[in-house]
This record gives sequence, C-alpha cells and structure tokens, in this order.
Amino acid sequence: MTSEAGTAITVIGIILVLILVLSVSYIWFLIWIWKDYQKYSEETLPWTIGAAFLFVLILPFYFSARKNNKIVCSKCSKWFPVNLPNCPHCGRNKDAN
Ligand SMILES: [Zn+2]
Repeated sequence: MTSEAGTAITVIGIILVLILVLSVSYIWFLIWIWKDYQKYSEETLPWTIGAAFLFVLILPFYFSARKNNKIVCSKCSKWFPVNLPNCPHCGRNKDAN
C-alpha cells in the first residue's frame, strides 16, 4: 500500500466517522425535542417533524415558542401556557408566589 492510498483511506475514515457522529447527534436532538416538548404541550409531533426536515430553520422558532408561550408553575414546577391565569395542573394562580 502506498502512502497516498493510506492517506485516502484515512480521509474516508474520518468522513465516515463525521457522518456517523452527525447522524447520531441529529437523532439524539430529535428525541430530545420530542421529550422536551412533551412536558408542556400536546403538539409534539409537528415540532419534531418540523425539526427533522427544517432542522436549523426551526430551532429559533422552537426556542422562542418554548420561551414565550409557557411558564413554570411555582408550586408544581410544571409548564403551562402563559395566557392561563391558573396552573392547569395544580390550580395555583400564576401571579402568586
Ligand atoms: Zn402548578
């Protein structure tokens, strides 16, 4: 084997490892979005499908939607829509501390 062939095999190997790592990260990220969004919304599927196809594009929207539309209940620590006056899980008023 010449050194050039060895270099080519090394480069191909590195590319294959990179593709593998990216694929695993991608799948892990989609699972993470799925589970993360399940905590406070039933609209998990559209977000996960959106993230799968639009990946980079959907991320800012995902995080802004996550941040703006839900708050954490101070009593039960569950997420609920910010437009509700009371937590649907435990009934605590969101303005109460
Ligand atoms: Zn609550």
